[in-house]
Amino acid sequence: MKKEKKVKEPKKKPKFGTLSCLGFMLRMAARHEPIILWIGMGVISLLMVLGNLTGLFVSPMILSSIERGAPLHEVLLTILIFIGAGMLIDGLKGYLGGFEWYSRITLRSILNAMISHKCSHISYSTKVSDEKFGEAVRQGANACGSNSSATEAIWPTIQTLIVNFINFGIYVSMLTAVEPVLLLLILVTTVPGYFYSKYINGWGWRHREEENEINRGIYCVSGNAGDIQAAKDIRIFGMRPWFDDLYRSGMGLLEAFHNRGARVYIWNNILDLIFTFLRNGVAYVYLIGMVLEHGMSASEFLLYFSMVGGFSGFVSGILGGLSDLKNKCKEISAVREVLTYPDVFPLDTGKDVPHTGRPGVIRFENVSFRYPGEENNPYVLKNINLTLSPGERLAVVGLNGAGKTTLVKLMVGFYDPTEGRITYNGVDLRDLKRREYYKEFSAVFQEFNLFAGSVAENVAASQTNIDMARVKECLAYADLTEKVESMPEGYDSKLNRGVYEEAQETSGGEQQRMVLARALYKGAPILLLDEPTAALDPIAESEIYQKYNDMTEGKSAVYISHRLASTRFCDRILLIDGNIIAEEGSHEALMKKRGKYAELYEVQSRYYREDYNAKGGAKA
Ligand code: ADP
Repeated sequence: MKKEKKVKEPKKKPKFGTLSCLGFMLRMAARHEPIILWIGMGVISLLMVLGNLTGLFVSPMILSSIERGAPLHEVLLTILIFIGAGMLIDGLKGYLGGFEWYSRITLRSILNAMISHKCSHISYSTKVSDEKFGEAVRQGANACGSNSSATEAIWPTIQTLIVNFINFGIYVSMLTAVEPVLLLLILVTTVPGYFYSKYINGWGWRHREEENEINRGIYCVSGNAGDIQAAKDIRIFGMRPWFDDLYRSGMGLLEAFHNRGARVYIWNNILDLIFTFLRNGVAYVYLIGMVLEHGMSASEFLLYFSMVGGFSGFVSGILGGLSDLKNKCKEISAVREVLTYPDVFPLDTGKDVPHTGRPGVIRFENVSFRYPGEENNPYVLKNINLTLSPGERLAVVGLNGAGKTTLVKLMVGFYDPTEGRITYNGVDLRDLKRREYYKEFSAVFQEFNLFAGSVAENVAASQTNIDMARVKECLAYADLTEKVESMPEGYDSKLNRGVYEEAQETSGGEQQRMVLARALYKGAPILLLDEPTAALDPIAESEIYQKYNDMTEGKSAVYISHRLASTRFCDRILLIDGNIIAEEGSHEALMKKRGKYAELYEVQSRYYREDYNAKGGAKA
């Protein structure tokens, strides 16, 4: 056999051991789906043992009746009893199995929902910046993804182990009572064969990273080809042949991989054949000797010979089941890692935030920040001192990558400062209940999401208790009334084509307006707009910012933009440059200063003027 090429892969020890994960799954089943334990692991396992014993005794018993010269009706009755017992056992197993199967799926779905819940409740910084958490979530989701995933497939494994252990015990007691030599023979021909074949069959497991990589490529190509977002580019740039080539080469790699595996696995079959031949050969010789020398009957011969095969199956079943259980528990360990992942700050502990409907004072005190895991890089923001007074309109401007969004993420409490502190009404954010603090904000970010639901649900960010008059008012402010009312189902029209076939297609700009309407609907005391208008032109952005300004009387607002003209109206403008607040003041004051802000402002207005004229704006 050709020596197999070793593929290097990082070995990660699972955080939770086999017994601990087994205990976890049993506890989960006891709490949520006890049918799995009582019916699946209990009754069905016993039925399986009974079924096996029926199968073992059927032929020897019939033969023994014939040997004894029993009358025909007795032989027929024996046959009927066994057939009846077999049918009853199979029927019961099938009937109860239906309930158990449903419970297994339900339990897996519960675990899936728990992962999803953890992902939406863990601190933003861990969700976004902690690669270890991301990897655990990927693996955890894999362990709950389908019927063959570990959290569901562990039950047949446990069931097989229970059945094999009981059968093993029964066979051991029967064989030791009569023929202990046979026991030894079976163990000698089964155990070494099992370990060798396990090693060979482990080829797939040892090379799984290689296979995953090939599969990832194939899924990525087919995913991109079917992606609604990519549909336009695929057509305009004629990308289909490119996808076909990529897909063909991926499938070629997969075929070569499986052929390599098949060449290795064939050794397993050969070896299995040799060991079965040895075991059966020796058993025949031994049992024939017993027949000739000790007058063993034909029915006993048949019974013991069947037991040799069966017993060897139980031994491999137990060894295989244990290693299978270990592998499944490794995968389940990832689920538990997600569920017990330590949070950098809990959402629900700390001081309450009184919701008065009026904005509080946000203060940055000597705040410096770098993203988690970026310890060797310079600070994104350094020594920021800033106060956002109630009702103030603050603009944060600067070039792309200056740190404007980072400032907002700190303000809203998604990240804690690396140095210094941020306070709300004098209390360090670290000491506040984050979930309560988030309620003080209506924010719209650059990357936004419209969820699979109706227009009204998306604006209200809820499925229940929707104030329709308010939804309409907010959509009117976002200039969307005409668009939404022209949709076939108006405010109940579905969004998101990925889920609803009849969903409405909306442009990037319309989606942004809808998210802006959502921010208005929430009506929180502090409004954050982090360039949510990138898909709109500068004039539309300027108009929307103005409109928001008019609508949010009495609230604090932070407007972020790299288009300086949009935020001119603000009480105070901060220019972030070189990781500090480089300039600060009103638009007029900053223009008078003739510094970096004035320079950027001039360049941008010249550019927009030229652009406007080139588009014929002057004619209009
Ligand atoms: P702006 O909003 O001004 O365009 P950002 O605040 O988004 O800038 O980014 C400031 C800097 O921080 C950039 O260099 C960016 O690459 C970096 N950065 C942003 N997000 C992350 C993150 N999650 N992890 C590491 N670095 C980040």
